[in-house]
Amino acid sequence: MPFLLLLVLIGASGLFLIVRDLSSRAQTMLDQDLSALSLDARSFLRDRELYLVEAGNFATNLHGIADAVRRKDRAGVARLALSVLALKQDLGLLVVTDAAGAGIAAFDDGKQRDDPGTWADRPFVSEVLADRSGRKASGFLVQEDRTLLVIAAPICAVADSCTPVGAAVTGLDVTDLVTGAFKISPSAGVNRRMGLAIFDGSGRRLAAAGPLPSGSVPPLAESRLVRRTERAGAEELATAFVAFAVQGRRVGTIAVSLPTAPAFAAVRGAAVRLAAVALAAMVGVVTIGALLSRFILAQVRRLLAANRALGAGDLGARVPVIGRDELGELAAGVNQMAEQLQASYETLELRVAARTEEVQRLLTERTEFFAAISHELRTPLAVLLTQAKLILDPTYRMLGKSRTVIGDTVQTSAEQLLKVVNDILDVAQAETGRVELSIEPVKLPDFLKEMRGTIKGLARTGRLGVSIDVPKDLPAILADRSRLRQILLNLLENAVKYTPSGGSVSLSAAANNGSVEISVSDTGIGIPPEAGARIFEPFFRVEGAKTQGGQPSSGLGLAVTKRLVEAHGGAIAFESRQGRGTRFHFKLPATDTNGTRRGGR
Ligand code: ADP
Repeated sequence: MPFLLLLVLIGASGLFLIVRDLSSRAQTMLDQDLSALSLDARSFLRDRELYLVEAGNFATNLHGIADAVRRKDRAGVARLALSVLALKQDLGLLVVTDAAGAGIAAFDDGKQRDDPGTWADRPFVSEVLADRSGRKASGFLVQEDRTLLVIAAPICAVADSCTPVGAAVTGLDVTDLVTGAFKISPSAGVNRRMGLAIFDGSGRRLAAAGPLPSGSVPPLAESRLVRRTERAGAEELATAFVAFAVQGRRVGTIAVSLPTAPAFAAVRGAAVRLAAVALAAMVGVVTIGALLSRFILAQVRRLLAANRALGAGDLGARVPVIGRDELGELAAGVNQMAEQLQASYETLELRVAARTEEVQRLLTERTEFFAAISHELRTPLAVLLTQAKLILDPTYRMLGKSRTVIGDTVQTSAEQLLKVVNDILDVAQAETGRVELSIEPVKLPDFLKEMRGTIKGLARTGRLGVSIDVPKDLPAILADRSRLRQILLNLLENAVKYTPSGGSVSLSAAANNGSVEISVSDTGIGIPPEAGARIFEPFFRVEGAKTQGGQPSSGLGLAVTKRLVEAHGGAIAFESRQGRGTRFHFKLPATDTNGTRRGGR
């Protein structure tokens, strides 16, 4: 609203300044027109004055005029006067008097009067007759039906020192002067509504044409232009008054008037047009401003709504992008931000879901793990408990043989229990990365020599053939000796356990790209393909797989083996064909002869 007010104020003051400027221009033009018109009028009057002077000179200098006047020869004077009128036909009055001012011949508009009258009482005549310097005199002659501007000239007997013998009076009708001036003025043609008037020295109006002010004529001290604006009936008139002189004497005033309305009509029209244009511009600016601000506000509201929705968690909220201006860019920015937020949120949700699933799986695994542990521990513990009860039973006769049986059973169960507990511990340590290894270079041929007895004993138990194929120049491997022994025994024990008697077990090793690959093969029952990598999971056992001689099976051996191989920086895998045999093979890092690592893992 203050903006609107400011706009109106600026528009109004601009309009005021323009109108003021236009008005002052119109005023100046009006003044210039008035000056030009009064100049025209004055020069016309001056021209007419010269006409009178010429006529006077002509009359007073006619050959024989002085004689005819002195003789009061009416016919002679009239004849001479007619010759003047023949040349100066505009003369409204021509009078020739004698030295006493009595008329000898008088012509009104070229027509001779019967009675030439007496002129001595006319100041311009008496003044000329009384003077000897030959000067002319001028004035207004007011008659019943008309007013004349007259000039009287002396008729001298002797040219050098004039003693007037009479006077010649020439006159022009003032009304003719006004209409003549009105017609002749070039400016009057343009200003058809011009007014022109002639006043005498006392301010009396002598003749007028066109619209004129009714007020009094200002007293004029000099020939300065005086301007005045006043009402004349329904219209306003601007009038210029200027004094005019005849024969060096100020005899009256000329007034030139022009109506102000036409001059200012253009200004008024321009002002109205300007006001209309300014108003239209203002309305346009205000309308456009209002529309623009409504549009901007709507867009800002949409932005705010989207912002609130996003803040409240509605990540699908978007702002319509309208245009490419700053607001459009802002909307696009908000949308982009929302999209990123949504994408991050979705990723986060997916991650949380995956992590939850993982935790769930681990929890299930852990439960299953503990159930399996309990199960594995329960069997040997139950055996131990039974044996203990048997020993404590007073009715049981513990003879020498049965004591040995009980002793064996207790020992086997305790060993089995210990093995299960050790294996669980190994798996747990390996999974938490806390397997302690004392790594050293191990020469496999020598190492196997130490194990040869154990291996042979195992083969014998299973009534199997056994072969060991290890090249003598095999590079030493980097391993913990006791853990390496544990790995090999686990694999060999499995090979023996799952190979029917009559089959064979073999152990071989070969250098392979910075490491040594050791294989334990058998010709046993094999592992079904569906078991796959699950074979290395703790407590996993192939369903229906029978061990030779009913050895206990916990499903922990391969889990421990895999984790120990990996703790050495190696890897284990197997190939198997059901009913044909299995080959487990694992790689361990090798050293050069100095005992440093050769490369690879
Ligand atoms: P276990 O104490 O049962 O032998 P392992 O982890 O050593 O536990 O072995 C897991 C399972 O893998 C065994 O129950 C058996 O079914 C299968 N298995 C392991 N070694 C062999 C093999 N050499 N031949 C056939 N099956 C094997």
